[in-house]
Amino acid sequence: MFRRVLQLGLGPGLLTRGLSTRRGVSTLDWDAKVSEFKKKIECILPGKPWETQLYDTSHLPPEQSDVVIIGGGIFGLSVAFWLKKLEKKQDAIRVLVVDQDHTYSQASSAGLSVGGIWQQFSMPENVRLSLFSVEFLRNINEYLAVVDAPPVDLRFNPSGCLLLASEKDAAALENNVKIQRQEGAKVCLMSPEQLQNKFPWVNTEGVALASYGMENEGWFDAWSLLQGLRRKVRSMGVLFCQGEVTRFITSSSCVEGPNGEEMVLKRIHKLHVKMDKSLEYQPVECAIVINAAGAWSGHIAKLAGIGKGPPGTLQGTKLPVEPRKRYVYLWHCPQGPGLETPLVADTSGVYFRREGLGSNYLGGCSPTEEEEPDPANLEVDHDFFQNKVWPHLAQRVPAFQTLKVQSAWAGYYDYNTFDQNGVVGPHPLVVNMYFATGFSGHGLQHALGVGRAVAEVVLEGEFKTINMSPFLFTRFYLEDKLQEYNIL
Ligand SMILES: Cc1cc2nc3c(=O)[nH]c(=O)nc-3n(C[C@H](O)[C@H](O)[C@H](O)COP(=O)(O)OP(=O)(O)OC[C@H]3O[C@@H](n4cnc5c(N)ncnc54)[C@H](O)[C@@H]3O)c2cc1C
Repeated sequence: MFRRVLQLGLGPGLLTRGLSTRRGVSTLDWDAKVSEFKKKIECILPGKPWETQLYDTSHLPPEQSDVVIIGGGIFGLSVAFWLKKLEKKQDAIRVLVVDQDHTYSQASSAGLSVGGIWQQFSMPENVRLSLFSVEFLRNINEYLAVVDAPPVDLRFNPSGCLLLASEKDAAALENNVKIQRQEGAKVCLMSPEQLQNKFPWVNTEGVALASYGMENEGWFDAWSLLQGLRRKVRSMGVLFCQGEVTRFITSSSCVEGPNGEEMVLKRIHKLHVKMDKSLEYQPVECAIVINAAGAWSGHIAKLAGIGKGPPGTLQGTKLPVEPRKRYVYLWHCPQGPGLETPLVADTSGVYFRREGLGSNYLGGCSPTEEEEPDPANLEVDHDFFQNKVWPHLAQRVPAFQTLKVQSAWAGYYDYNTFDQNGVVGPHPLVVNMYFATGFSGHGLQHALGVGRAVAEVVLEGEFKTINMSPFLFTRFYLEDKLQEYNIL
């Protein structure tokens, strides 16, 4: 306050505008008085100039927020956007996004994903989510427009996705295409001959059937989407804070469950945000918590007491989301398939796509359960490419026999070990924690619809646009797996 008064009185605007007197004192006198006063302050706070010595609280989160979103990746920002977009009255809801790392160095939404979007899923809800995203992305500059800011450039590559199936998987692929078409996706089936005609660079050996998305599929720049959303939600009044959520303060009450058993319901009242590079923390009181912490959301659930109960009970059921390391390799191949290359998913599980216009490609493949690398760091295993990826690439696209790897990176899947599908909506026992997480390798393309679904259930108590009930947490307790066949 003290500093504010001085700043207001001494701002360059006032002085340079040549105000000659202030309460009857000439400018010279006034300057001398201020200078004397500064000296006095400097004596009290020796060291740096006095302005920087006073405690700055601008990095701290507010003490209260209606909604706290943990994680400022694509899911957290999407929930923030839809909460503000759907609120009944402007500025009705205070939304705070807390992220431990605003540089997004390990966040998969930022630059670590492959940016792919496809409609070729086997679950209708996943097809609907992709179609929802496509509509959003097509109209992105209506959704994310900010006055005086340049438009968002997604660099969308509408090159399609091509899925290849062996004899064993052909019937499932055909069935999936039926579901996709029922949902309105434009996908065609191709025999090996048709495939060879359309993409002459593919070796069709071992391919019994292929499906190809004729529109709304390809890849885009995830970073641009993330930054566009961030800029927009800021303009809508969402607050951001860099810090780590380390603790929840909850209260409990006992209720009778459907089978007469005693159930403990919890409500989060406050969470602690540990400030960046400091031991300082700030408690934030809140009504709703959104767990959008990506690969770390299982840890956040644990902090809230989720899964701390007898095994086999709802209370003892964990959120089964953990970080799984995935490599992406970028290679150069002037003889490669060229500009027409779609995002290809091979029968072997290896995938690739074109990257830019300079004969570069990128791709990889998920390891088997036994091969899962240690997720402690993001180092790349180059032997994995040599032994597990390249042989399949070279078999499917003979031109790739001569490729040269240029670079590689690793990122974390927000991996749902139960069924590799998303977790959306409220927790049944920690009643004010909502999930938007666990989409494993396809979260980027589904986050826009999931954000809306979560905002709807928070604001209106039910899913409205897309019914996401199959994705509720309770399926882990009921051991009711979602079967999605097309996860890369
Ligand atoms: C190699 C790779 C390729 C992929 N390719 C595709 C693709 O082609 N198409 C597709 O749709 N999806 C793809 N994905 C998946 C997609 O990127 C993810 O599903 C999605 O980005 C997850 O977003 P998120 O917001 O949940 O997580 P993130 O982007 O990881 O954000 C989570 C945030 O939570 C923060 N956080 C964690 N813990 C705390 C805490 N305690 N306190 C505060 N903040 C915390 C983190 O700092 C982080 O910024 C890919 C992923 C990888 C790794």
